[in-house]
Amino acid sequence: MARVAVVTGGTRGIGKAICIALKEQGHTVIANYGGNDNAAQKFTDETGFAAYKFDVGDHQAVLDGCARIAGEIGEIDIVVNNAGITRDGTLNRMSYDDWHEVMRINLGGCFNMAKACFPGMRERGWGRIVNIGSINGQAGQYGQVNYAAAKSGIHGFTKALAQEGARSGVTVNAIAPGYIDTDMVAAVPEPVLEKIVAKIPVGRLGQASEIARGVAFLASEEGAFVTGSTMSINGGQHMY
Ligand code: NDP
Repeated sequence: MARVAVVTGGTRGIGKAICIALKEQGHTVIANYGGNDNAAQKFTDETGFAAYKFDVGDHQAVLDGCARIAGEIGEIDIVVNNAGITRDGTLNRMSYDDWHEVMRINLGGCFNMAKACFPGMRERGWGRIVNIGSINGQAGQYGQVNYAAAKSGIHGFTKALAQEGARSGVTVNAIAPGYIDTDMVAAVPEPVLEKIVAKIPVGRLGQASEIARGVAFLASEEGAFVTGSTMSINGGQHMY
């Protein structure tokens, strides 16, 4: 059955691949983005999907953005909380702002989207929420106390909300990607990246489409019995 799906941070990288995979499942797909209008325009030109700009870390902006989508397109049945940022640095160098901004967007974004969409999903008796965590939320990573804490928080958030949705046909799951070939990873210095790839048993970075396939399954009708779980897609780098 065709559903309305919103993918936060859907205009680039992993989010864009998720949008394409959900469209292939027959859904009406809407991407959200934070500020890069050029990337959003390029995305819409290429795919024909609508892109709505709002900051997922801003509670009121999310409520307003989701209300606009519901009014203009339809009630939201599938939410993929994919928007995320990094502000790396060792604890010594990390400012409070680096900490807070990563928590606000990466973890706060999940809360804000759930507040906007979860009640309606429960009322209608069907919903899918897929949260994009990270291998670094499972295993930790040097220089990422903010990012690792936010992503680890996503895994706890997923398990707790899954319990609230289970009786109402709403599943809540997470995917923990390993290192995927996107702009975010392109920002990692080459020598560091070489060391990371050397530790991936399959011997390469992942592709965004490989994460998207996992999301498409968790968002499907067939995924109804999977809830509160975390799917690790990481080339064997961390076996959890
Ligand atoms: P990108 O940096 O390529 O894209 C990030 C997307 O998030 C963009 O669409 C961006 O919008 C959007 N975004 C950023 N901040 C906000 C905000 N405040 N409100 C709304 N949208 C926002 O990221 P990736 O595709 O690499 O990563 C996607 C997700 O996967 C992230 O959560 C990331 O943490 C996670 N992940 C990625 C891994 C990787 O190896 N790439 C590994 C593990 C997890 P705009 O274009 O407007 O900036």
